[in-house]
Amino acid sequence: MAGIKLQHITKRYPDGFEAVHDLNLDIADGEFMILVGPSGCGKSTALRMIAGLEDISEGELRIGDQVVNEKAPKDRDIAMVFQSYALYPHMTVRENMGFALELAGVDKAQRNAKVEEAAQILDLSQHLDRKPANLSGGQRQRVAMGRAIVREPSAFLMDEPLSNLDAKLRVQMRTEVSRIQQRLGTTTVYVTHDQTEAMTLGDRVAVMRAGRLQQVDTPRNLYESPVNLFVAGFIGSPAMNFFAAELKGESLATPFGDVPLPERLRGAARSAGGKRVIAGLRPESFEDAEVARRQNRTGGHEFEADVELTESMGSEVYAYIRLEGEIAKAAELDEIAADTGATDVPGAGTSQVVARLSPDTTVRKGTRGRFWMDTEKLHIFDTENGQSLG
Ligand code: ATP
Repeated sequence: MAGIKLQHITKRYPDGFEAVHDLNLDIADGEFMILVGPSGCGKSTALRMIAGLEDISEGELRIGDQVVNEKAPKDRDIAMVFQSYALYPHMTVRENMGFALELAGVDKAQRNAKVEEAAQILDLSQHLDRKPANLSGGQRQRVAMGRAIVREPSAFLMDEPLSNLDAKLRVQMRTEVSRIQQRLGTTTVYVTHDQTEAMTLGDRVAVMRAGRLQQVDTPRNLYESPVNLFVAGFIGSPAMNFFAAELKGESLATPFGDVPLPERLRGAARSAGGKRVIAGLRPESFEDAEVARRQNRTGGHEFEADVELTESMGSEVYAYIRLEGEIAKAAELDEIAADTGATDVPGAGTSQVVARLSPDTTVRKGTRGRFWMDTEKLHIFDTENGQSLG
């Protein structure tokens, strides 16, 4: 087994396009690392460089204690699992899983032993003599994983391995992948564009955007302490709400009135002086004011606002609340989106926030509702560069 270290890795394609820029990532031995980001952010390119399927333009890649930049994929002691399972249709499950071992000259008895062991872990023992065409999607995906497992590589590299499965199976297989990785303890790098998958699977998650690493951290830290607007908006569903705000001493002027700044932001607020910022608050940090009072939720701030829409999800209600007042809309977000042409600027173009309320709420669409917000959970971001200020 081995850790993987990317140092100042850049990938420039022959047409000059820089798909990955100065990527630094230190993946520990046995760690489950997720690379996540929107389409085109360079995550597959990064994985393919680790696999040796793509040349590295600049920087150094280490697997274990060796620099492997110039090593052929087959000499890197890694196994890759793709989105298309790439199984051989004319071979049985047993033959598919044992093929790489056969190529490596492993004798039949040993091959069979390894295949059967992997099949047991993957719950495929009863299907070893079937052909891929006679398997379900989930089973095929397991065979693809089995092929990687039998080789006992020092690392698994997985590129959206679950994206061909339907939603329900994907959730099941997610649990499987996590269980297998924990059981084998093999260093794993897993690419996905799905932030939920990233958050549930990874020991740590590396968030990328436009070829650049934004933040690498545990799922919880990414959620609670995003370093910038992009990460804040990308992680979490429904997404974090953003609205314009202004620092005023120890309070913050928001479209919902003046609210106290949490202790942890006061230092940053003092050094920033009076200043316009973009505030962020997750949907679950809002509540129906009456419910919040019943639940004795202390602190925070109550306000009234128009409810544009409600959606009942059974266990919770989403209320879409209209932003009001002079500083309602975070116009900077629209400007950033327009300036950069980026379509992934979180919060651009909206003039409402989404509140995730308890199902007991009496708030209704088309009325004026009374809400509570947990001001302790506020985030503030610089309007110029989107960096978190606290
Ligand atoms: P997706 O989730 O859509 O697969 P990704 O984050 O994995 O996206 P990559 O496949 O790594 O993205 O591609 C990153 C960028 O590099 C994209 O803008 C893509 O168009 C570009 N790119 C990929 N391959 C080449 C190539 N051979 N030549 C030029 N540009 C390329």
